[in-house]
Amino acid sequence: MTNPMSIRPRMLMGPGPSDVNPRVLDAMARPTIGHLDPQFLQILNDVRETLQAVFKTRNPLTLAVSGTGSAGMEACVVNLIEPGDKMLICVAGVFGARMKDVAERAGAEVTAIEVPWGHVFTPEQVENAIRERGPFKVVGIVHAETSTGAGQPIPDIGRIVHDAGALFLVDTVTSLAGMEVDVDGWRIDACYSGTQKCLSCPPGLSPVTFSAAAERAMSERKTKVRSWYLDMNMVRQYWGSERLYHHTAPINMIYGLHEALRIVLEEGLEARWRRHMRHHLELKSELEGMGIRFLADPDHRLPMLNAVAAPDGVDEAAVRARLLDEFAIEIGAGLGAFKGKAWRIGLMGESATERHVQAVVGALRQILA
Ligand SMILES: *Cc1c(COP(=O)(O)O)cnc(C)c1O
Repeated sequence: MTNPMSIRPRMLMGPGPSDVNPRVLDAMARPTIGHLDPQFLQILNDVRETLQAVFKTRNPLTLAVSGTGSAGMEACVVNLIEPGDKMLICVAGVFGARMKDVAERAGAEVTAIEVPWGHVFTPEQVENAIRERGPFKVVGIVHAETSTGAGQPIPDIGRIVHDAGALFLVDTVTSLAGMEVDVDGWRIDACYSGTQKCLSCPPGLSPVTFSAAAERAMSERKTKVRSWYLDMNMVRQYWGSERLYHHTAPINMIYGLHEALRIVLEEGLEARWRRHMRHHLELKSELEGMGIRFLADPDHRLPMLNAVAAPDGVDEAAVRARLLDEFAIEIGAGLGAFKGKAWRIGLMGESATERHVQAVVGALRQILA
């Protein structure tokens, strides 16, 4: 049997997980205590407060769902949607398509609009969809589409969604703590993220936040939430002052998130966004110097997820395998429309450094030579 002590470290430069600061791993190795221990409840309060700072929100209903980013997606959808509710979903890649699948399973009557891979929606496209096929209870979109490397214009779309009286649901799994996210300023009603991308914590928790309007929609439900585990009416009674047992909090994961959030706030949100952009530009100039082409719309490229075309005649999977075997660097493959044609190079959180950029560029130069 494999001994976990023999696992060799990698430079994680794919679409997640990203490199984890040793401080976070140390925090996770602290003694496990009870989920109602006063020491642990203080940690939970800190996590809620620091999440509010990172999401830029005053929403009281802000917490970390037990589960990865996809659990946060499902939590937002099942708590806002009752069977038969109309939802508009803007699909620009794999994760938008996943949101559509989740919403259909929750019984939503889904209308999907699409743009080609690597492109973004114009506010007019969303406005037209609402006028022609609405009204909708919820409009959902992925901010940073990790499958394509394009970032959607959330503030402009948010204004239209609000004017139409719908709830605005936004996936910030890849964007949070790597580029601007402003839940209150952008009038987002429900937002979820994940620990393993720009927060640089291992996968396992999904920060979520709900506005007053979203809370109202939940309290006006006529039917029970379709998921027992993700029912915010119950989960919130543990995170709030009632401290009612619902499910046992993943204690040591919460320690890790607590430390990861401290690190984010020590650096400062804006400094962190700038750092991601700086290293993206550095990577871009190096790769373009090698004749490697970026795939996403130039005006809407993500700093933390660089989708590039594998050069003609190059076996993209073989290059990734050599990066991992010979250089201990992990990068991502293309998904969906980009499968077999693209690499996705992540510069997320602890992986957004000059050392990472130089390592992947140097290795690619050797392999492609
Ligand atoms: C990674 C990702 C998810 C899913 O997160 P998991 O942690 O894999 O469950 C959802 N949305 C986006 C945009 C992502 O990048």
